[in-house]
Order: sequence, then structure tokens, then C-alpha cells
Amino acid sequence: MNDMLESHNPATGEKLGEVKIASPEDISQCVARARDAAPAWRELGLEGRRSLVEKAWAGAESGGKTLVDLICREMGKDIRRATVEVNGTLYGGPYISGQVLEALQPKETGNGTRIEYRPLGVAAVISPWNYPLAMANNLIVPALMAGNSVVFKPSEETPLVADYFVRLLNRVLPDNVLQIIHGRGAQGRALVESPVNIIAFTGSRAAGKDIMARAAGGIKRLVMELGGNDPMIVLADADIDAAARFAVGSSLENAGQMCTSTERIYVDRQIAEPFESRVVEIAALYKAGPWDMPRVNVGPIINEKQHAMILDHIRDAQTKGARILLGGSDQSPPYIHPTVIVDMTEDMVMAQEETFGPVVAISRFTSVDDAVRRANNTPYGLGAVVFGKQKAREVADRLEAGMVGVNRGVGAGDAPWVGAKESGFGFHGTRDGHRQFAQVRVLGYSD
Ligand code: NAD
Repeated sequence: MNDMLESHNPATGEKLGEVKIASPEDISQCVARARDAAPAWRELGLEGRRSLVEKAWAGAESGGKTLVDLICREMGKDIRRATVEVNGTLYGGPYISGQVLEALQPKETGNGTRIEYRPLGVAAVISPWNYPLAMANNLIVPALMAGNSVVFKPSEETPLVADYFVRLLNRVLPDNVLQIIHGRGAQGRALVESPVNIIAFTGSRAAGKDIMARAAGGIKRLVMELGGNDPMIVLADADIDAAARFAVGSSLENAGQMCTSTERIYVDRQIAEPFESRVVEIAALYKAGPWDMPRVNVGPIINEKQHAMILDHIRDAQTKGARILLGGSDQSPPYIHPTVIVDMTEDMVMAQEETFGPVVAISRFTSVDDAVRRANNTPYGLGAVVFGKQKAREVADRLEAGMVGVNRGVGAGDAPWVGAKESGFGFHGTRDGHRQFAQVRVLGYSD
């Protein structure tokens, strides 16, 4: 068996490097080392850990340019988006650690009771490829700050960027407090089944379900940030131009490879024609291709399997009666030109499952109740958006999602990033989010 994992540039197929796939023995030794490292890390206390985290993340700034370059070449982002991700990650260390410091302060309740937030032990962090640093960082920082040692398994699509980041941080962090193992689903499963105490996972719903089942034996703590199939409802009194701009931008961002990208659009029949025409006009301004070509703003799809899956969704919709107004299913890897589909119906795969590609899929409605029913009619519940005036807030209230946007996208500064239904239940950020990484202990005492 080949025990090396090759990393390739999704745009060119060029081999960028390789890393060793962790064997079962490697994984168990790694977890054992993490367990041995945990007591000293815990003893440092919140302030001591904060100062090392700040120092480690500040020190990693020297590798910022290399991280940007690696994200561009390994994941296929453009320099602007990769820079935003790297800056957010480097800034995120001190920022998130400050939040955790506050969240995990012990509380005296005044009647001889003290509430403490203590480390759980060893945390497994398993992350996806679409934001290869940011997604991992959001879990690694609170896990470390809470006093756990971390074993990190990045996506098999982006091992080099993760590996380099960990090496930068480990110039400052104590030995074995943050370790990395490489591999695919099998190595993720082995890590989940090893004696870790908490599994913090961002990735697909299918992998999330498998992890939950495997974690059940040890009643391991879970933080689950899973996939989405985000709906957008466009009401009759919506600003058509603003709604069309949002619909296109949100469906095509990161070539549609974003957990909260708009996947399904329900538009009131009264404004459907001008809305659909405007969507096509705007989407036609987008162009897929290599980033060094002029006017390109849609990069490559991460791999051939994902490319084929997106085209399957488009073909399935076509077969079931959808009309393609732009793009289509006849496209070869690694790019997919922006595709606009109208007359999407509920029996189409894309109405039920995450397409994760640069597709704007539209369906018309005559009754708002029916639009809400259809928007909610999937197992997912990550984000949802409503555009409109009079009843927009009322409609937003009825959407089953962890994050809802009214006349704007989802997600805000100091609010949790959170899913509902089968999009997960753990969340990034804020006091409650950070407390997921700690064991609450209640001490009662009398003098
Ligand atoms: P994925 O689930 O295939 O893989 C994610 C990670 O889990 C990888 O490291 C992979 O090797 C590992 N893995 C796969 N199967 C596993 C298993 N059974 N046990 C343990 N580990 C396993 O997801 P992906 O293709 O890397 O990422 C895309 C998915 O992530 C999409 O569904 C997207 O919506 C989701 N995502 C969600 C969020 C969020 O915040 N909710 C953010 C980014 C991405």
C-alpha cells in the first residue's frame, strides 16, 4: 500500500508535494503523546496558554506569504481570497484566544458554589479543504486555550498548507501540544476511535453522521459543523437588482464551494421574469478559468470527483425538466462556468442535496407558505436568506436554519457560526461556543 498522500494543484494537476499517511500505530502514538503533554499545558493556566498562543500566532506571520501561496496552489483560490483567509487566521489566534480567556473564567455564584471550566484532555480536530486554514483555526484555538492538547487531521486535499501552518506554530508551542496527522477518511475514523475526549469536526453531513456513531461508544464530546443546502426566498416586494446580485454572488463565491453558499432560490412568480433575467445578466459577467486570465472570478473545482458530482446534479435537473439559461453540464474539469437553472423542482437532487458548485438554481412560487415549506424541506439547516420588505422578517422567522439573513447574507461579527437540523449543533465562536471545549465542573464548598 502506498503510504504517501500526494497533493496536487486542482487547476493544473501539478504535483505540489506529498506527506506521509499516518498508520494506525502512528495515530495511537500521537494520541498517547498528546495525553502526556496535556498536564503541563493545563498547568500553564488560561493566562499562560494565552500568552503562548499569542506568541505562536504572531510568529506565524513570517510564513504568511507562503501560506497564501500554498492556499492558492493547493486549494485553487485567488490571491485576494487566500490573503483574506490567511490574515483572518493569523489575527484569529489572539482574537479568539482573548474571547476564550473571558469565556472560561471560573465563576463564584456567591452561595458557596464555584463553576469552573476545565480541560477535557485530548481534542481531535478534523477539517475540510474549502477554507483549509480558517476552518481548522476556529477549532484549534479554543481547543488549545481550554487546556486540551490537539491532534489535527486536515483534509486530504490540502495537507501542505495545514502542515506548514502547524510547523510555524510549533516553533513556539510546547512539544506535542499541537500535532498533525495526515490521511483520508480512514485516518479520520481511526482518530475518532482512538482515546480522544472531544472531536471537533467541520465537514460533510455524511462524515458527521459516521463520526457521531463512532464517538457514541466513548460518549465523546462533539462539535459538529456540517454541510448546508441554503435556501433564499425572494418576496414580491424585494429589490430585484439587490436580490439578483446577492443570489449570483452567494451561489458562485469560492466556485460555490462554501458551506453557506446559496444553493436554492425561491422567487415569487410576480417578479420571477425580471429576477431571472437579471440573474443571467449578472452571472454572465462571471468567468471560470485560471486566475491569471483576465476577468476570471470563478476558480477550479477541487477535484474530478466533485466536478463530476456537480455536473450530475445539473444533468439530473435537466432530465427532470429544468431549463438551463447559462452554462450547463457539458464542461470538462477543472472548471465549471457559472450555470443558471430555472424551474427547479423538489424531486431534483440539487433541491435536496448540497451541490457545492457554481450553480444558481431557481424555482418560482405562488404562495409564501409553499416557499417556506419548500425552503425547509431538506435535512439541512445551516443558513437561509430572505429578500423583501413588508413580510421579510416574518418569513425569516419561519425558516429552519441556524443563521438567517434578511436582505443580506448570513453570519455576523461577534455571533456564533451555527447550524440547525442535520447541519450540526456545535458552533464556532462566542462564549457558549468556546465552552464546548471545556468540562464544566461545579465545586460546592462550605467554610
Ligand atoms: P468531508 O466530510 O468529506 O471531509 C472533511 C474531513 O473529514 C476531511 O479531513 C476528511 O478526511 C475527514 N473525514 C471524512 N470522512 C470521515 C469519517 N468518516 N470520519 C472521520 N473523518 C472523516 O468534507 P469536505 O469535502 O472536506 O468539505 C466540504 C464539506 O464541509 C461540505 O459539506 C461543506 O458544507 C462542509 N463545511 C461546513 C462548514 C460549516 O461551518 N458548517 C464549513 C466548511 C465546510
